[in-house]
Amino acid sequence: MTDQAATVRPDRRAELAAGLARVRARIADACAAAGRNRAEVTMIAVTKTYPAGDVLALAGLGVTDMGENRDQEAAPKAAEVAAAGVGVRWHFVGQLQRNKARSVVRYADVVHSVDSVRLARALDAAATAGRDRTLDALVQVSIDGDPARGGALPDSTDPDRGLEPVADALAGAAGLRLAGLMAVAPLGWEPERAFARLAEVAARLRQRHPRATALSAGMSGDLEQAIAHGATHVRVGSALLGMRPTLR
Ligand SMILES: *Cc1c(COP(=O)(O)O)cnc(C)c1O
Repeated sequence: MTDQAATVRPDRRAELAAGLARVRARIADACAAAGRNRAEVTMIAVTKTYPAGDVLALAGLGVTDMGENRDQEAAPKAAEVAAAGVGVRWHFVGQLQRNKARSVVRYADVVHSVDSVRLARALDAAATAGRDRTLDALVQVSIDGDPARGGALPDSTDPDRGLEPVADALAGAAGLRLAGLMAVAPLGWEPERAFARLAEVAARLRQRHPRATALSAGMSGDLEQAIAHGATHVRVGSALLGMRPTLR
């Protein structure tokens, strides 16, 4: 299999190295500005729309964590990377349909996008049946509370979509570990305000679930503000790999 492994041209490798150096410097500066230890923040390279060769090149440059948002794309890419003999941690960060749970648990190490009790149960059933170790799961939170978009609702008592029921479902699931929260700053919100609000929600969650300390927030355009408000995982795509051909 290894002779078929995806390869990357030297100029692409240099491009990725330059992007990585820029993003690493931004993260280090943001940690310094916030008085935080650099080791508290994990960078996830969001490789959606980019080929397995880019994943292998990034892994060769020392990147350990990769993110994907669609199972149809992620499953074959993860298989290609594994076939090349390269081990990385895969983070599933996109909207997840329940019927994809069985596929995702085969390659993902962390799922960032659990936003309903029904999805938590489907993921638990899949993880219990399809893997030999627990799967880390984060509750995706809606910062603006708009029920029409993705994310569990922090101030809702809805038994399926409320943040508390979703977090409790993950915490009580045998095949899962409640690791923390994930959010995307809503369109039209200042990142500063969005992540300040997220930090409040995260603090409340930790009163009930003290070990749920992960905070996945910040992307190419707003990682500094997310780190200032306690992000432990930043999900960086375009600043690292280039502009994607299609917006997702
Ligand atoms: C695509 C994506 C990212 C990365 O976005 P960039 O702006 O390219 O850094 C982060 N998080 C999620 C959930 C995404 O879908």
